[in-house]
Amino acid sequence: MGNFLKKKNNRRSFLKKTALLSTAAAFSTFIPKKIKAAKTYNWKMVTTWPKNFPGLGTCAEIFAKMVNEGSDGKMNITVFGSGEIVPAFEAMDAVSSGAIEMGHGGPYYWKGKVAAAQYLSAIPFGLTPQEQNSWFEKGGGQEIADKIYEKMGCKFFVCGNTGPQMGGWYNKEIKTIEDYQGLKMRAPGLGGEVIKAAGGTVVNIHGGELLTSIQSGAIDALEWVGPYNDLAFGIHKAAKYYYYPGWHEPAAILDCFINLKKWNSLPNNLKKIIALSAKAATQQMTNEMIAGNNMALKTLLNKHGVKVKPFPDEVLKKLAILSNKVLNKLSSSDELSKKVYKSIIKFRNDSIKRSENQKKFLETRMKYVNYEK
Ligand code: CA
Repeated sequence: MGNFLKKKNNRRSFLKKTALLSTAAAFSTFIPKKIKAAKTYNWKMVTTWPKNFPGLGTCAEIFAKMVNEGSDGKMNITVFGSGEIVPAFEAMDAVSSGAIEMGHGGPYYWKGKVAAAQYLSAIPFGLTPQEQNSWFEKGGGQEIADKIYEKMGCKFFVCGNTGPQMGGWYNKEIKTIEDYQGLKMRAPGLGGEVIKAAGGTVVNIHGGELLTSIQSGAIDALEWVGPYNDLAFGIHKAAKYYYYPGWHEPAAILDCFINLKKWNSLPNNLKKIIALSAKAATQQMTNEMIAGNNMALKTLLNKHGVKVKPFPDEVLKKLAILSNKVLNKLSSSDELSKKVYKSIIKFRNDSIKRSENQKKFLETRMKYVNYEK
């Protein structure tokens, strides 16, 4: 082999080696030496409900499971019932302070911290469940709620809706508005303010103490939610009359509140998973409440012989007049309350005309149509 050929061969093997090396180098830029593992978040959620309480406690569990599975284990939320880590009404303090990352309850439980929060739960004679969910999503409710919860150091999400509630359990008949004089009743939120205006005494007791309070005679009446939840607490064992409609809470949302600093520290994908899970859990709870109330009302009527009664029209009319007075006075007490109240009332008033369709349909279905089983 001549020098020329030798050189050529050397050059060829050099090129070959270089090509291999550069290919490897090219690959190495695409294959990270070590895939950086995404951070795993192990969060606690404290609630105002007994662990796994139907509809309310289970909504928190459903939400947590959706987040845990949706994030493929990158965010693990463990749910605690009331009293397991903190008492029911101390859930907000625990989350505001950052001791616990998130909580689940009802906005009106926090009215002592920010008065405007109670309007987010429900307004007497206000919105139906569908209207309320729509107000939060399309009527500016989310933005206002975020401003309210920011004052408590939290991010806000709707996470559940009870559906239309019942008017409550009474141990005496309500025939006139005067029957509220001196009545001691568990009734939280704005509805409770109206009961006070009617001459009643209002106490706020969390779910776990309802039955013993009415059994012992500490209270004469109570409202909790509806058949599904009320049956679970056995309230029919201690109260005579079950009234409707739930004028005070025609629907009520539950809140998911997250410590704002912890929320801001989350990557965007986990923020999105939380937001979507809260929405999906709200829908799932709404569905569960309808099916659960259908069954539980049958049980209360047929098995326990509960006396279900409508409030007399005259009583409802007077409660409506009182509601108007109470809400006008309360909502003008601070700017944020005024803002949230006006926004909900606008949405409510815009909804009246459209809801005639639903009203007529429900009346017709009830009166004239009886399909065979
Ligand atoms: Ca209620």
